[in-house]
Amino acid sequence: MSVRVRFAPSPTGPLHLGGVRTALYNYLFARKHGGQFLLRIEDTDQGRFVPGAEDYIREALAWCGMVPDEGPWNGGPHAPYRQSERKDLYRTYAEQLVANEKAYYAFDTPEELDAMRDRLKAAGVAAPAYNAVTREHMRNSLTLSATETKERLDRGDDHVIRLKVPRNAEVRFEDIIRGWVVVHSTNIDDKVLFKGDGMPTYHLANIVDDHLMGITHVVRGEEWLPSAPLHVLLYEAFGWERPAFAHLPLILKPDGNGKLSKRDGDRLGFPVFPLDWTDPVTGERSSGYRERGYYPEAFVNMLALLGWNPGTEQEIMSMEELTGLFDLARVHKGGAKFDPEKTKWFNQQYLRMRPNEELGEHFKASLAKIGVECTVEMATAAAALLKERATFPDDMLEGIYLVKSGSPLKDNAEALAELRKRWKPEAAAFFSSFLQAMDDTSDFSAHDVETCFQSVLAASGLKIGQVMPVYRLFVAGRMQGPGMFEVSALLGKTEVGARLRTGLEISAEWV
Ligand code: GLU
Repeated sequence: MSVRVRFAPSPTGPLHLGGVRTALYNYLFARKHGGQFLLRIEDTDQGRFVPGAEDYIREALAWCGMVPDEGPWNGGPHAPYRQSERKDLYRTYAEQLVANEKAYYAFDTPEELDAMRDRLKAAGVAAPAYNAVTREHMRNSLTLSATETKERLDRGDDHVIRLKVPRNAEVRFEDIIRGWVVVHSTNIDDKVLFKGDGMPTYHLANIVDDHLMGITHVVRGEEWLPSAPLHVLLYEAFGWERPAFAHLPLILKPDGNGKLSKRDGDRLGFPVFPLDWTDPVTGERSSGYRERGYYPEAFVNMLALLGWNPGTEQEIMSMEELTGLFDLARVHKGGAKFDPEKTKWFNQQYLRMRPNEELGEHFKASLAKIGVECTVEMATAAAALLKERATFPDDMLEGIYLVKSGSPLKDNAEALAELRKRWKPEAAAFFSSFLQAMDDTSDFSAHDVETCFQSVLAASGLKIGQVMPVYRLFVAGRMQGPGMFEVSALLGKTEVGARLRTGLEISAEWV
């Protein structure tokens, strides 16, 4: 039997990174087993529908490189894949359960339901529920006569369809990740399957569609584990074979044990969404990994390891490698702590793997945005030096001094203050000698510059720490950055000479 899995988001807002991980594990599992990955939009809860959310899901999955084999955007043999477009189907299935005495019509008004809860609470019942005991005292097709039920239905009285949960049964299933789950039916209430508004509830639509779409494995977040016994009962009620279940661990906040939320991201300064999102009602903006400069490969790699590992120390894995290694049985039971620093680390690793030419193009384009022009060769050579220290492509902008000619000290109060702090009057003579010695260098390669620098230093009797920071500030205008001999070689003799002379002029006043 070929594996068929689905990602079934509800379009109620932007996809949280936990949702993307669910999609990813489904995708990897399908690919690994040569099966199909379906996408189904679960939009039966009209009250929670958010415009733009479906497009967001589509774009986020595409960004991560997960294109569904079947779904609302590319169709498939089980179309439509949007539950709102399958609406008419669900009532038939709910009625089939009523006909087989596995479900019933319930006509209770909200007031009657409240009264039932109040009554039970007063009698000391902690969690009052519509269940095998209480349904006997409510207004439903089990307590009303067949004639009255029919009359009410014909009249169009408000009603729902509820599952008739068996009174004394043990519900068991083996979860691929969690092992055996056993729940007694007294802990399951008679859930509404079909609502008064003519729409199915999540439970009914989800089971009907998983069955009709031939889903073999349900891989979803832990928050759905409490619903799973009810789903098992639903499969039994229909007499359908049920898929295997795998409930993924929660993603936890970096500090503490709770579930990771948008608030944690806001508080600690990292996105919890793959892409930027603007709430269509409140206008509130949430930032995404894409817009922050993350590579999708890094984001996907990080997510894959949030609750799973290949059993080795290997951390950097492409989608292809992940596909080969992924195993649902190796998914952890316990929650996975989200680590924003590790996420940055992944990006840094992927950035380093990018070809210099590509980073050069990016660097050139970001420079152009701030009005600095340079050749692509120059940008590429600069990117080759800057990539080791960058986490995001835009971090390379701190290396603007590598491509923009002129002293980096000009109009740079911060660099001037730093220089003033580090300036040693005896350095003036060193730089004058170095400027002269520089003239005699041959190719001004990094090696060449270094040899020249060291010999002038040896003759000066100064220590490297007395002159290198000054050299750095004169030439780069900042204390951090790539090695100064490489930087010098890239800038060339003339430019370095000019910057050193400007530096000496500025500092001459401080002697
Ligand atoms: N629509 C549910 C959600 O929003 C799907 C849960 C499931 O996969 O069964 O996550």
